[in-house]
Amino acid sequence: MKGQEKFTEGKTKILYKTDQEEQLLMEFLDTLPFESSKKVSVKEKGKINSDLTAYLFEYLHSYNVPTHYLKKVDAKNILVKKLNMIPIQMIIWNIATGVLSKKLGISEGTSLETPVIEFYLKDAKLKNPMINDYHAYALGLCDRNDMSAIIRIGTKINAVLRSFFQRKNLSLVQFTLEFGKSGNQVMLGDEITPDTILLWMLQEDGKFDKKTFTLTAENAKQVYSRLHETLLK
Ligand code: ADP
Repeated sequence: MKGQEKFTEGKTKILYKTDQEEQLLMEFLDTLPFESSKKVSVKEKGKINSDLTAYLFEYLHSYNVPTHYLKKVDAKNILVKKLNMIPIQMIIWNIATGVLSKKLGISEGTSLETPVIEFYLKDAKLKNPMINDYHAYALGLCDRNDMSAIIRIGTKINAVLRSFFQRKNLSLVQFTLEFGKSGNQVMLGDEITPDTILLWMLQEDGKFDKKTFTLTAENAKQVYSRLHETLLK
């Protein structure tokens, strides 16, 4: 937003200060989330991701999941509560694929008995290493109460979103969440979009179509618009 003071800028979003100390404006950019020396953009991506985040966070609110989302402001911007972000990314897996399959020798596409929760330190210089709860306490990232809240809220989000996507014939394979604190309360921050979730489509023959909703530099434009159409139209 022109003229507004920036609070922070990341790869795919800019957060601006507002005239309310406790609120920020989150702008979704057209930039793709991939690590690369030059920025690649897809037209309308920012608008679509803003719509998807607004829609999914409102849906989570209807299940009493605490989040930073306040309201949609315009095409690319939402208003959020300013959080003290906990620099941890939580990844939840429902189906083994990619690195998880390779690392643990679980065959590709296996539905996991119970969801696997992983934590990564959000530190690009250290290449976001995997950590566990003890690392989080030792590094002073959060305390035990915060960690229990993160796990409780993350697990609930997984249950709510899994059934939501299932009703649309989509399997929630894996997704990433970020949490922060407003005062003492831990809540979900950041976004839920194709940049942060992996969905496979269930075909009529019972097999998964793994490609349609999997984000790559080549099919990004279709992934964003297909998910937008599937959820919002
Ligand atoms: P990156 O992927 O480079 O971290 P993004 O483009 O997603 O960045 O930038 C968003 C930044 O804003 C991230 O650092 C994220 O942790 C932070 N953030 C998300 N929600 C909030 C919030 N409610 N309050 C403060 N910071 C937030």
